[in-house]
Amino acid sequence: MIGIAGVLQGRRHKLRKDKPVTELMEQVLLLNITYEPLKIINWKKAITLLCLGKVEVIEEYRREIHSVSFTIKLPSVVRLLKMVKRPKCPVRFSRQNIYARDRYKCQYCGETCPSEELTYDHIIPKSRGGKTEWENIVTCCVECNREKGGRTPKEARMTLIRNPIRPSWVPAIRITIGFKEVPKSWRDYLYWNIELVE
Ligand SMILES: [Zn+2]
Repeated sequence: MIGIAGVLQGRRHKLRKDKPVTELMEQVLLLNITYEPLKIINWKKAITLLCLGKVEVIEEYRREIHSVSFTIKLPSVVRLLKMVKRPKCPVRFSRQNIYARDRYKCQYCGETCPSEELTYDHIIPKSRGGKTEWENIVTCCVECNREKGGRTPKEARMTLIRNPIRPSWVPAIRITIGFKEVPKSWRDYLYWNIELVE
């Protein structure tokens, strides 16, 4: 098994169109067994882990690696088969993390927007004693925010699409590239990690 990994690091392996594998910056998202993103590794490391039986492939790229003895699709997301424990830290209370928790979706109308078209809303308005905390703040589009004004959802006859909660963990990695630049296959796993740069 180690042999395969060793062979892959050699130069004989070509992708289609004869482009040397080593020129490609194929990155792989490594998930914990819990599906929590841990880090970004290069494809060689991913293949090594795969050959050692430490990970399973969750998502693949279309590209294939051809070697003398086998063909394999490049993994894009791999998941560890054993738990890696990380210290628990509280999630930083920030606008960006509120948007991430709510998946960039207005919690009243359900519209998904880029961060510059979003704001946050105090469910119970501050003027009525509402606190600035995870359970009283939701992502809100500008229009819904304007419509709600200084009222409670009940008064404004607006319904939350889900109740806000305090997240219990902080991302191990923070990806600071634009959402559109992240490989599509990673998106489902990067709930907290995307720092949206439009
Ligand atoms: Zn809205």
